[in-house]
Amino acid sequence: METIRTIQGLRSKLAGLRRERETTVGFMPTLGYMHEGHLSLIRAAKAQDGIVVLSIFVNPLQFGPNEDFAKYPRDTARDLKMAEEAGVDVAFVPDVEEMYPTPMRTKVSVSEVSERLCGASRPGHFDGVAAVVLKLFNIVQPDHAYFGLKDAQQVAVIEQMVHDLNVPVKIVPCPTLRESDGLAMSSRNVYLSPEERSQAPILNRALAEAEEALQNGEVRPEQLRQLVANRISEASLSDIDYVEVMQYPSLTPLDPQVTPKQLIVAVAVRFGKTRLIDNRILDLERMPSHV
Ligand code: AMP
Repeated sequence: METIRTIQGLRSKLAGLRRERETTVGFMPTLGYMHEGHLSLIRAAKAQDGIVVLSIFVNPLQFGPNEDFAKYPRDTARDLKMAEEAGVDVAFVPDVEEMYPTPMRTKVSVSEVSERLCGASRPGHFDGVAAVVLKLFNIVQPDHAYFGLKDAQQVAVIEQMVHDLNVPVKIVPCPTLRESDGLAMSSRNVYLSPEERSQAPILNRALAEAEEALQNGEVRPEQLRQLVANRISEASLSDIDYVEVMQYPSLTPLDPQVTPKQLIVAVAVRFGKTRLIDNRILDLERMPSHV
């Protein structure tokens, strides 16, 4: 594996690899502090692409002024070791100066899909994500880009951007990897105190109950929402940011007149200073009773 810190260096390395191998490029952008969830994206890319590129960049543009940009966990040496062992060909690790040598004057803003859920709680977050992902797509020019469905709204925003702007890349959404007790893997899980960590799997349990309720015919969004919110509230250290039931991937409220193909039950919950997100995307056409 080669670690490259400059855009110019990455471009020339990839041009050489493409000439040599005549194969496709798979890419996954990350903030680093890798875990099994990140590795699952690398494995998906290895199965499909002859060149696998990973980026590690804590993007200041996607953090709000009171968020954890400075404190975001970082361990690049460990990340690079994990990436190499997983079979990454090129790790792109730019610094902020390399990515933003001058203040950004261009905004990449995906309306509607960005506005609810985390977009409402974290103003500007998805503009920052869309901008950095579009920059990275232009730098790497991948054939396939792999994203985790743990961040389902991020997937929806990127898919919409790629569609609207004819970006020549195929987005590959990948399933959420979980700890053995069901907690969705996240770099931020390290912030949790032992007591918060022991309560955090309530998110997954509440979402599983919503799925079960839907399978048993509970189709009213407000009822599903309440069920999830009530269950999560049982955890004494939880502080709900949102619990929402929406159409997916449009992320618009459910219209009682229209049956969507997919809906998402999405949650964001604070445990102390740590904000965790999780979701279930439910395929209504596969449910015994349609909404
Ligand atoms: P991050 O470093 O948190 O920005 O994540 C980088 C990529 O890994 C994103 O596409 C995430 O959606 C994905 N990812 C993060 N956690 C998980 C997980 N538990 N399972 C699958 N993918 C994940």
